[in-house]
Amino acid sequence: MLNARIPRKTHNSLNRCALFNLTVISACLYAGMEWLFFMIRPSSLSILALLDSIKILFVTAGTISIMSIALLVILLLPAVAVRNSSWRSQLLILGNIVPALLLSITALIMLDNFTYTEFKFGIISTEDPLRSMYALGFLIFFWLMFISSKRAIWARQKFAFYLALSLLVVSIAAILATRLASYPNIIILGSDGLSARYLTAYDSNQKSTPFLAMLAQTSLVAENAFPNAGSTTGSTTTVLTGKNTIGTNVYRYSDTLSGRDSLEHLPGILRQHGYETVEIGTPHYVDARKINLREGFDVVNNQSMIERSSDTFSAALGNSLSTPFIQTILERASERLLHIFFIKNLQLLPVMVETSADPQSDEQRVDQIIDLLNHADQPLFIFAHLMDTHGPNFSFEKQVFSSEASVGKEWDERRYQDALLGFDGHVKRIYEHLAETGQLDRTILVIYTDHGFRYAIHERIPLIIHFPENASSGTRKNNVQNIDIPTTLLDYLGIPAPGWMEGTSLLDSEAPANREIISTTTGSPKEIAPPFHQINIAQLIVCQKWYALNVRRNIFDSGDISGHTSKCDQNRLPSGEQVRQRILEYLEKGGYDISSLEERQ
Ligand SMILES: [Zn+2]
Repeated sequence: MLNARIPRKTHNSLNRCALFNLTVISACLYAGMEWLFFMIRPSSLSILALLDSIKILFVTAGTISIMSIALLVILLLPAVAVRNSSWRSQLLILGNIVPALLLSITALIMLDNFTYTEFKFGIISTEDPLRSMYALGFLIFFWLMFISSKRAIWARQKFAFYLALSLLVVSIAAILATRLASYPNIIILGSDGLSARYLTAYDSNQKSTPFLAMLAQTSLVAENAFPNAGSTTGSTTTVLTGKNTIGTNVYRYSDTLSGRDSLEHLPGILRQHGYETVEIGTPHYVDARKINLREGFDVVNNQSMIERSSDTFSAALGNSLSTPFIQTILERASERLLHIFFIKNLQLLPVMVETSADPQSDEQRVDQIIDLLNHADQPLFIFAHLMDTHGPNFSFEKQVFSSEASVGKEWDERRYQDALLGFDGHVKRIYEHLAETGQLDRTILVIYTDHGFRYAIHERIPLIIHFPENASSGTRKNNVQNIDIPTTLLDYLGIPAPGWMEGTSLLDSEAPANREIISTTTGSPKEIAPPFHQINIAQLIVCQKWYALNVRRNIFDSGDISGHTSKCDQNRLPSGEQVRQRILEYLEKGGYDISSLEERQ
């Protein structure tokens, strides 16, 4: 109620201030409630480090506050235009629409979150007449909020102003801080089935990979690296998740990630940090859709997975963690409102847009990488897996090592070397493009593979990481595994690696010499049967030794890794029986019944 003793002019300015306070506090409440909802359930937000999630909360609150204040200013324009202070006072009432709308949307979303969590029922699934009830309820609640907002005496008090102001200041500071962050591009470029012993950069005297040998001079090179799986699908999944196959249960094509595993991966974290994420693999075998890797890639094998963040948000928030989150919550609000008011029916599945055919050749895959580099307006994460070196038949353009005599021969080493030379040329083309366009010192280039020649897991594989300005170049002699890749990349970016990532960062130091590296092979799909289902061999590597347990036949074997460059002292090596027990422990921890293996045959 109007206090008669306060002059109308002062009263109007008090009202304007109250509207500002109510708007900012309601906007922050809305952002906070959505943030909380996404934090307490498995989501791409809840997998982040707490500090990163809190930053997202404030950037979101700030962005929604600024948008709401802009709307408020527009609604108050008529009030500013009139000179009569009594009219002005009436027109100011219009401004209450903004906090009333924010509070009603918050209430609608909270109700929806509650019914969805508790009863698995939400606005999405409503049909008429319930849909109309939601609409009616929303309008009634909006009216109540409009009235309360008009009468909110507390909002005119100093404490409300200080609260709104401090929320806004912290949020704007968070927005400015995210504008300052700038991440390099990351290209994880692999080729199928590379064994270190065939590469010039490692052991081979053949000139099969002359460019990789040069690249190694200015890169971090793991001399003794190993894969964590012997199948393409299983191994590429370990690189993306930083988790072992026993745990995610993705051993081979067509296994899928489930539960939290679907959301816990490197591309998801990078996407939250403002990266555009693209997978260039092969349909089926290297395809995030097939393994149910969710909310990670914007584009998978040329199909858009997630609608790109609106350009307005990307432009305003730049390299921000928050853009996809803000996009999500605003979409949630607008979709629900449009649904209850019968303007639009909800679409439950993400729209997939076919952009062009899947790339067929490695040449086309490299063309795509170069095209992406030419057009990116935010940092890029590309996970590319090339296939010319995939056995038993290899593909190549130029015949240097092989001859006509080897045409059609499976697993022909000469043809394999020609394919390696082709891959070397692809790496060179990308590297030179980066150098020519000035992007080399803004890009991390990782050369990896999924397993050795003939799917070997007990052979050394290449791992070469070229950082901007040749940072961290040098060799790592102790054993390295593919699941160290995501941890190392996050370490370079200064993003804390989440606890579920099992690898070690190689950035500044060696991993422990005698650590255990576990990997699995799958063998013939015809033999998939309980209790070990897809697993054929579970292998542990310690120092220069591999120990393999064939779980289907209960045969245990071990041997030396050829060409190992950092051998441990013999008496530091565990005994075969100790390693066998460790493998059983890994399997048991993975939920397998190991009773069939406890009696040694
Ligand atoms: Zn493969």
